[in-house]
Amino acid sequence: MSQVTLEQFQSEALAFLEASAPRKEEEKKFVWGEGSDKVAMFEDKERTKEQADVDRACAWRRRKFDAGFGYISGPEAFGGRGLSGAYQRAFDSLESKFDIPNQSCFTIGLGMVAPTILAHGSDSARDLYMRRLYRGDIVACQLFSEPGAGSDLAGLSTKAERDGDEWVITGQKVWTSGAHYSQIGEIIARTDPSQPKHKGLTGFIVDMNAPGVEIRPLRQMTGGASFNEVFFTEVRVSDDHRLGDVNNGWNVALTTLMNERAAIGGGGGGGGGFFTRVIEMVKHYGLDSDPVVRDELAKIIIHNKVASYNNQRALDKIKSGQMPGPEMSMAKLAGTNNMIRLGNFVSMVLGPKLVADSGEWGTYAWSQLILGTPGGRIAGGSDEVMRNIVGERVLGLPKDAGIDSKSPFNELKK
Ligand SMILES: Cc1cc2nc3c(=O)[nH]c(=O)nc-3n(C[C@H](O)[C@H](O)[C@H](O)COP(=O)(O)OP(=O)(O)OC[C@H]3O[C@@H](n4cnc5c(N)ncnc54)[C@H](O)[C@@H]3O)c2cc1C
Repeated sequence: MSQVTLEQFQSEALAFLEASAPRKEEEKKFVWGEGSDKVAMFEDKERTKEQADVDRACAWRRRKFDAGFGYISGPEAFGGRGLSGAYQRAFDSLESKFDIPNQSCFTIGLGMVAPTILAHGSDSARDLYMRRLYRGDIVACQLFSEPGAGSDLAGLSTKAERDGDEWVITGQKVWTSGAHYSQIGEIIARTDPSQPKHKGLTGFIVDMNAPGVEIRPLRQMTGGASFNEVFFTEVRVSDDHRLGDVNNGWNVALTTLMNERAAIGGGGGGGGGFFTRVIEMVKHYGLDSDPVVRDELAKIIIHNKVASYNNQRALDKIKSGQMPGPEMSMAKLAGTNNMIRLGNFVSMVLGPKLVADSGEWGTYAWSQLILGTPGGRIAGGSDEVMRNIVGERVLGLPKDAGIDSKSPFNELKK
């Protein structure tokens, strides 16, 4: 069968989108004081409302999957169309012009977990999950961090013990974004504590509704509860849900983390989506001829542009089939620093209006975003850890001395 040309594909995609969703209103129509003034990184949503949003997001994925646009560059065996990344990019660019339900509930499942299942999952696990993940029938979360293991992820203590054809998992995870609306999770657990910390780990796919899984919300300072603590008490997982070889979980985790940095760092340069609103705010307060304000705003826009060009270089590398490397750490660092710069600028312009709710449109609403940005400096690897990576892998500086990767895990001081 001959492959559809890019032009034919684009016209099919456009016909599908026109028939399925309204076009977005142009950004140039933004008028200060009109519509919603909500700006947030982590939305403060009630869980029932959040679930309704997830359901809408899944319904959109199902619709586009069934029309042939849900897994464009994926293998045909799992419902993909086997087309190149250029087709995916063409669809994404067209889709971005339409008003579709927010798809952020898939960032972890499709951006990080699905590529890991594809790379390391057993045949039966790939058959069971790949298609359902891309069709939005299920959502996945990432169960890595623990109270005693974040930056030093390899220090995790959740254990998995073999019992015939099954594994029994016991321990605690923390910070698990979206665990409460996920059906499956990718977990890394310790399977051999007598080996050095990076060597005795194994990855698994767990059913989030299995007996012994308990999900408790964590409330953040913005008000919402996007994260959870997840407790595992003798949760049974069949061996065909293992990811990769026994005790090779560090490589499984690295696959996920590299994709995480691409998913987080590839987002444009940090803060660009708010520029129209910020420029209109400056004009509204008559500060557009203030030399200090102009200078600060210009710096923010320049930093964003430089970061987005650098991200593009890194993303082009990924699109040409290479693994994302330390470039993604630089991209992540630049993106979060640019968000912080933007927040500082908004604070400078709004002053006390940012912290006291006077009811004035477009003022106090920014506090949601500004209280959320520090989370970005930690999620997916903290700023300091990103700097360590850049120092070691780009600048060739000596390795971080604080990590003992040679002694057996059960002999390390806790
Ligand atoms: C918004 C958000 C979403 C998240 N979602 C998930 C999720 O879905 N799943 C999941 O598993 N985890 C998730 N996390 C957890 C995240 O991966 C961890 O918070 C992160 O890895 C840092 O670990 P920690 O919080 O334990 O901090 P720690 O590792 O204890 O770090 C504390 C401080 O010490 C610094 N530090 C630590 N080690 C070094 C070092 N070697 N050199 C220099 N400084 C160092 C850090 O930079 C930080 O400032 C999320 C976190 C956030 C903020």
